[in-house]
Amino acid sequence: MIDNISETFGMLFFAVFILVMLVLGVMLIGRMFLNIYRKLIGIRIRKMESCRSCGHPISRSAIICPNCGENFGKINGYADSIFFCFLLGFGLIGLAFNSLSEFLEMFEGFSFLR
Ligand SMILES: [Zn+2]
Repeated sequence: MIDNISETFGMLFFAVFILVMLVLGVMLIGRMFLNIYRKLIGIRIRKMESCRSCGHPISRSAIICPNCGENFGKINGYADSIFFCFLLGFGLIGLAFNSLSEFLEMFEGFSFLR
C-alpha cells in the first residue's frame, strides 16, 4: 500500500510538472505574439517620431506605420525575443504533450482503475 501511495504522489508531481510546462509554454507563445504585435505596431509611446510618409507620430520601434501602412523594414531587439519565445514555447508544449502520453500510459498501468 505504501508503494501505491508513493506512486500516487509521484504521479501527482508528474501531473503538476506537465501542467507547469504547459502553462509556461502557453505564456511564452502568448509573449511571442505580444512581441510580434509590438514589433509590427509599436506600443512604446515614449519614443515617438514622425512617419516619413504621412507625418503621423509613430513609435520608433514600429516597422509599419499604423496610419498609412508604410513599411520601414526596421529590425530591433524583439526579433531575438520572438525567436526565443517561439522555440522555448513550442519546445515546452511538445515536451508537455510527450510527458502527458507517458502519464496516461502510467494511468493504464494502475490496477485499481480497472
Ligand atoms: Zn505613415
